[in-house]
Amino acid sequence: MIYFDNVTKVYPDGTVALDGVTLSVKQGEFISIVGHSGAGKTTLMKLLLGEERPTSGGVSFDSVNIHKVRAKDMPELRRRIGVVFQDYRLLPRKTAYENVAFALEVSGRTDEEIASDVPHVLELVDLAPKMWNFPRQLSGGELQRVAIARAIVNHPDLIIADEPTGNLDPVSTYEIIQILKKINDMGTTVVLTTHNKGVVEILGKRVITMEKGKAVRDDQTGKYAL
Ligand code: ADP
Repeated sequence: MIYFDNVTKVYPDGTVALDGVTLSVKQGEFISIVGHSGAGKTTLMKLLLGEERPTSGGVSFDSVNIHKVRAKDMPELRRRIGVVFQDYRLLPRKTAYENVAFALEVSGRTDEEIASDVPHVLELVDLAPKMWNFPRQLSGGELQRVAIARAIVNHPDLIIADEPTGNLDPVSTYEIIQILKKINDMGTTVVLTTHNKGVVEILGKRVITMEKGKAVRDDQTGKYAL
């Protein structure tokens, strides 16, 4: 589903963020990308989202080279990818319900679809009782569950979660990982970046270790080798 083919990324200031990375992810997989700060994890995610271009090499999603997609076709491709960030990025003046509904509104869904899908997806992340709360009335773990609900409500094929538990306590971290696992069990491919050794161990799934812009290890069994 995802293929990085010998990808190098050099930023304009000369920083080599990725240095000849080749890796592939199959549909339905759950992979974690680990590595120290500066190893290139976020750059990998940005290339996958089409937010940065590779200096050389190619990035493809379902055999389509992301960086050759025409601008008018990009929104459709992006809708197939849900994104979750460390800092949640919710709209502060909208309730949990409205934050999720907004993702459906912008993709042109009807009021009926919104009214039926939003409660359903908030239920899936165990947040239905708090759907009328505003972000300031929710804990970090709850905010991240809203963000996950928003990321999955359009039924993406892939979820990218960039350090989703970076601001969370161990209990909330565990809950978020269980939810991501549940979403993966339902068929969605998940790519997670994390610093957290515990997360990788709880998951017991494939782990790619990045070091100075290179993918230096690829373990099938949840080992954190740093
Ligand atoms: P990670 O997510 O593993 O911390 P990043 O992909 O953010 O790593 O960064 C990899 C390297 O690229 C770092 O040395 C970082 O300073 C550099 N970098 C990231 N973004 C930029 C940018 N826009 N311009 C210049 N250098 C950058």
